Amino acid sequence: MRRNKNSRVTDAAYDEILREWQNGIYRINLYIILITLCIEIVFMFILNAKGTISVPIPQYIPLYILRPTLINIAAFATCLWLNHRGKISHSVRAMLPLVLLTVVVSNLIVVHYVFSALYATIIVPIYVSSIYGNTKITRRLFYLLMPVYVFDMICILITPGRNLPSEFPYDVLVAFCMIPLSYLLVKNIVEYENKKEQLIMKRSIENDKLREEIKVDGLTEIYNHTGLFEYMDAKIDEYEEGKQLMISVIDIDFFKRFNDDFGHETGNVVLKALANMMQTAADEVPGNEDGQKVLAARYGGEEFSLVFSDMEMNEAVAILKKIHEQFGKQSFPGINRKVTFSAGIAKYEHGMTDQMFFEKADQALYRAKNEGRNRIIVAE
Ligand code: GH3
Ligand code: MG
Ligand code: MG
Repeated sequence: MRRNKNSRVTDAAYDEILREWQNGIYRINLYIILITLCIEIVFMFILNAKGTISVPIPQYIPLYILRPTLINIAAFATCLWLNHRGKISHSVRAMLPLVLLTVVVSNLIVVHYVFSALYATIIVPIYVSSIYGNTKITRRLFYLLMPVYVFDMICILITPGRNLPSEFPYDVLVAFCMIPLSYLLVKNIVEYENKKEQLIMKRSIENDKLREEIKVDGLTEIYNHTGLFEYMDAKIDEYEEGKQLMISVIDIDFFKRFNDDFGHETGNVVLKALANMMQTAADEVPGNEDGQKVLAARYGGEEFSLVFSDMEMNEAVAILKKIHEQFGKQSFPGINRKVTFSAGIAKYEHGMTDQMFFEKADQALYRAKNEGRNRIIVAE
């Protein structure tokens, strides 16, 4: 019956956040590549000046500067190229910056194998993957890191002229054990975060529902005063010169007397019948991309309203007249009296507030009452 126009976070918005995040990881990868390059160059000068450089400069440059930088740049360029290719799947696109980070970190481990503390950096991509909130991506990365780490260690072992510290096997093992442990930890964090997010979503849906319920009249189930004014305000906000917006204010005639004669319960049956007719008439009008064109509301005891948008005044009056006739003819079981209503209808004019707009139709209603009731007056 009623259209829920509450905005929802769309998939496009999620995609946008994800893209920003992925670009962020690419940027961080680039910083790591550039910073390590700078450090290697600065170290070359410092160590050389102090006379503590382990290899001569002609060997240092290709080993510590050129080779790792070229590998990093090649990996960076490949990932960017793949990322910009339209054909790859969502999850592969998501994996790319993490794979790049794995390459960058591996490069660091292999080149600087003497600093065994660096071995533990192999777990960094697993932690970074947590941001996707997707255990599948984290698991894939875990499967990737195990062989990559073994490969790194093999590279270290076959490094010509390597000089391994005596604790090397222990350091290798400790870092290796950290891979599955990190995976389990991140998996738990991701699962926890996902559950939390689901709960927040559920609450948000419940809040949306509550907000909708606040706008609905309990007796007739059409919009109430709050719903009417909220809708009207939205329509006024989006109003542009040349567009049509009308409001009709409806009041049942001599309803106090009807209640006195037939009882409050029977009065309620009449209110529900009118609301039903109004809503059916509103539903019969096809909506447009802005939503419904006619909104029915009960804003007071026996006072109703219709808001018409994107239609001419004569169309709105025709709808109102149809309801008026139908209601006037309606008979109620055991009641030998016909009930009528009076209505005023007004057109929105640029610059009016919701109150001014409503007031204009209300004055037309006042005239309808004064001129004998059971009629519709169009405000000038
Ligand atoms: P008028 O033609 O001038 O509008 O006369 P009226 O009797 O309709 O106007 P008035 O405002 O004096 O009375 C409105 C009546 O509507 C009073 C009350 O008994 C009745 N009413 C208001 N809310 C409800 C409701 O929820 N259920 C029922 N059954 N009656 C209601
Ligand atoms: Mg009244
Ligand atoms: Mg009345």
